Amino acid sequence: MQEELKAIIDIQELDMKMIRLMRLKKERQKELDQIDTLRKELYQQFADKEEETKELGRTIEQNELKIQEIATKIKKLESQQISIKKTDEFNALTLETTAAEREKSFLEQKVSDLLDKKISEEELLETIRKSLESSADISKDLEKEVASNIRLINQEGSHLKEQRDLLAKQANPELLRIYDRLLKNKKDRVVVSIENRTCSGCHIALTAQHENLVRKGDNLVFCEHCSRIHYWLHEQESEDEGATKKRKRRRASAAT
Ligand SMILES: [Zn+2]
Repeated sequence: MQEELKAIIDIQELDMKMIRLMRLKKERQKELDQIDTLRKELYQQFADKEEETKELGRTIEQNELKIQEIATKIKKLESQQISIKKTDEFNALTLETTAAEREKSFLEQKVSDLLDKKISEEELLETIRKSLESSADISKDLEKEVASNIRLINQEGSHLKEQRDLLAKQANPELLRIYDRLLKNKKDRVVVSIENRTCSGCHIALTAQHENLVRKGDNLVFCEHCSRIHYWLHEQESEDEGATKKRKRRRASAAT
C-alpha cells in the first residue's frame, strides 16, 4: 500500500502544480477582461460626451433662429408704429416692442452662455479623446503581455498533463479513482502524512490505534475528520534523517 500511495503522491504533486497554474491563468484572464471593460467604458464616456456636445449645438441653433424671428418681429412693430396716430395704439406697440426686446436679449444671453459651455465641452471631449488614444496603446501592450503569459501557462499545463498521464498509467487504478474523487472535492492535497499523531490535512489529533493502522500500511486509512488518505512518513527514519527530510520538504514548499 505504501508503494502504491507513493505513486499517487507523485501524481498529487503534479496536480497541486496544475491547480496553482490554473488559478494563475484565471487571474490573468480576469486582467484581460478588466482591460477590455475599462476600454469600453472610456469609449462610452467619449460617445456620451460627443452626443451631449452635439445636442448643445442643436439647442444653440434653435435659439439663434428664435432670436432672428424676434428681430424680424421688432422691425415689423417699429415700422407699424410710424404710421400710427392714436396714442393708446402707439403705446401698446411700444409695450409689445419692449417685451420682444427683453425676450431677445434674454435669449442672446442664453446663447452666449451655451456657447461658453459648448467650448468647454469640446475641450473636455478632446481630453477624453487623447486619453483614449494613449490608454489604447498602453492596454494593447498590457494585453500582449498577459496573452503571452497565458500561452506560457498553457504550455506548462500541457507539459504537466503529459507527465501526469504517464504516472497515472502506472498507478493502481482503484486507488487513483478514490484519489481523483477526493481531489475534486477538496482541490487540495488529499494524501497526507501524519505528523505528531495529527492529520497534516485538517490538523486534528488522531488516536494511537489510527496511527498504528497507518504505520502498518496494510489497508487504505482515511482521516475520520476530513476523509483524506493518511500515509506514514517516518517509519525507517532516525530522528536526524527525519529532521533533514522535513527541512528539505519545507524548503521545497517554500520555493513553489
Ligand atoms: Zn484530517
